[in-house]
Amino acid sequence: MGIIAERISFIKPSPTLAISSKAKELKAMGRDIISLSVGEPDFTVPDYIKDAAKKAIDNNDSRYTLTPGTVEVRKAIKDKLLRENGLEYSVDEITVNCGGKHSIFNVFMATIDKDDEVIIPAPYWVSYPDVVKLFEGKCVMVDCHAKDNFKLSPKDLENAITDKTKWLILNSPSNPTGAAYTKSELKALAEVLLKHPHVWVMTDDIYEHIVYDDFEFANIIQTEPKLKSRGVIINGMSKAFAMPGWRIGYAAGPLDLIKAVNKLQSQSTSHAASICQTASAVGLNGDMSFLQERNKAFKERRDFIVAELNKAKGVQCLTPEGAFYVYPLIEGLIGKKTKEGKVINNDSDFAEFLLEEKGVAIVPGVAFGLSPYVRLSYACSLDVLKEASKRILEFCESLS
Ligand code: PLP
Repeated sequence: MGIIAERISFIKPSPTLAISSKAKELKAMGRDIISLSVGEPDFTVPDYIKDAAKKAIDNNDSRYTLTPGTVEVRKAIKDKLLRENGLEYSVDEITVNCGGKHSIFNVFMATIDKDDEVIIPAPYWVSYPDVVKLFEGKCVMVDCHAKDNFKLSPKDLENAITDKTKWLILNSPSNPTGAAYTKSELKALAEVLLKHPHVWVMTDDIYEHIVYDDFEFANIIQTEPKLKSRGVIINGMSKAFAMPGWRIGYAAGPLDLIKAVNKLQSQSTSHAASICQTASAVGLNGDMSFLQERNKAFKERRDFIVAELNKAKGVQCLTPEGAFYVYPLIEGLIGKKTKEGKVINNDSDFAEFLLEEKGVAIVPGVAFGLSPYVRLSYACSLDVLKEASKRILEFCESLS
């Protein structure tokens, strides 16, 4: 009998973190590497939040807090949900955790029994399936292709639901595609869910504030409030506030579910870091106008990278509504050879050979469950993006 529990064999390490590590390793070896594999904004934490954190340290805000988070931070989240999403939650229906990933982990740990089914539209964020598998749930992947703007159709949702379905996960704007659901698309999905009262919905809104061209964000619960009694909102400070390292995420949902999460949390992390909770409350209550300039920069980069990728032979790239990723189709390059005679059989080969030959790190679509695509993050400066796209175009041009 080995020391490692069987459940660890159900999961794999995060493939996106593995690629970022490989890029860092090559850089450390002296290679000229550009990484378009990161999932975090290249902006810094707004000063008013940094100041609040410094003040919290000076005020000795260093004791244990309540397990679900301080009343202050949960009140700030409650106010945010009402102000921005038109949804009324009590502070007891909100739990603060160590990042949005931890909120998802807690909610699934608290709700998934062996063989419970979770519908995951693909391409999906890499952690969803592994967290489901860790708790012996069954992932039901539903492919959503570029021709449908990577969005789940009501018909495909209906076909995926069985008696064992426990959850549907929706992530809009999406990692890895940047696609975001309109209110009418969400309404159509909600109509299907209303016919199946045993199915719960998790809406991962972590990219809520990173949207372009006047796109109006909405989640499925605000679109169809009848789903509130079986819906959970996931959000956090990592993307809009550029605070991924501060590890603050939260979940809002029905009291029994949130209580179960808190029970779990009381026996694991206890709570999120006190200083980060205090600073997050100030952040959520504060002036978010800094986002306008950041989103303007993101949009400029998005437009640039989409236009450049569409110049590459064999590559087709949609213009996404939000987040900071693009997910081009590379079908036209499958079967081609590099200058060294290596055949590109799939998107992993494409990403590997591009890194070897041109030093550009991107993530193959297989990591997100939909091939043959690749994910590029444009959370980097326009200059870096220009150099990266030049190398990608040269690489595509060199294939025969
Ligand atoms: N959900 C999605 C779709 C993400 O892309 C991420 C991070 O990359 C998260 C959740 C979790 O973010 P964090 O744990 O940093 O709050």
